Amino acid sequence: MTTADILTRAREDKRAVLTEIEAKQILGEPGIECTRTVLAASREEAVSISDEIGYPVVLKVSSVDITHKSDSGGVKINLPDQEAVEQAYDEIMTSCRAYAPDADIEGVSVQGMARPGTEIIMGMIRDGSFGPVVMFGLGGVLVEVLKDVSFRIVPIEKGDAIEMTGEIQGRKLLEGYRGQDPADVPCLQEMLVKLSDFVNTTPGIEEIDMNPVFAYSNGAVVVDARIILSE
Ligand code: ADP
Ligand code: MG
Repeated sequence: MTTADILTRAREDKRAVLTEIEAKQILGEPGIECTRTVLAASREEAVSISDEIGYPVVLKVSSVDITHKSDSGGVKINLPDQEAVEQAYDEIMTSCRAYAPDADIEGVSVQGMARPGTEIIMGMIRDGSFGPVVMFGLGGVLVEVLKDVSFRIVPIEKGDAIEMTGEIQGRKLLEGYRGQDPADVPCLQEMLVKLSDFVNTTPGIEEIDMNPVFAYSNGAVVVDARIILSE
């Protein structure tokens, strides 16, 4: 499905939230690299898709009614084999049904386990006066506690992206820290420009949240994505 198909279908369903699978498909179109993520509607399908993707895999609840998947026990990472996938599938369903009894759950998303990298967040929000704004920051505790993020009004160019990655407090962490590889900062800057271009040319998107993105010494990959549509 193309971006237009996904947006049309969501509007027909009268929903503002896209699933992680839909969000990653949309972001992949302009060349933002995301982990390949496939819907499994049953335990058996989760196993066969995992076999195809290759272990270890990650299973996550797929429901437009559950946006914070970990909070509902809906994320199981680093699953080494078929048995672990079957067990994880059952545990996710039990836990999410208890957490959100009215949620419409379409199944689980299956994706490869991304190797660890520097955790980044990127996204887009709409500002009342400035319109769409892109955001960049370090992931995890740093963004939650210190709010160490930078913003620019869309559209941005390469020079703006260079400023964005350079002006966060924790920029030194991008250069490598405690044995962690330095991050491919030019790749992150290109992602920010692609995100801005995408937002600038695609009407109807209210908010984009890529959290986390794993940055490597060569490349970066979006591990979780959320898109909210405008009313
Ligand atoms: P939530 O909806 O709770 O934000 P996430 O999809 O972000 O759920 O998953 C929670 C955490 O699990 C992530 O912050 C990341 O550390 C880890 N994770 C999720 N997907 C993957 C993956 N494909 N590979 C490796 N780790 C992952
Ligand atoms: Mg997340």
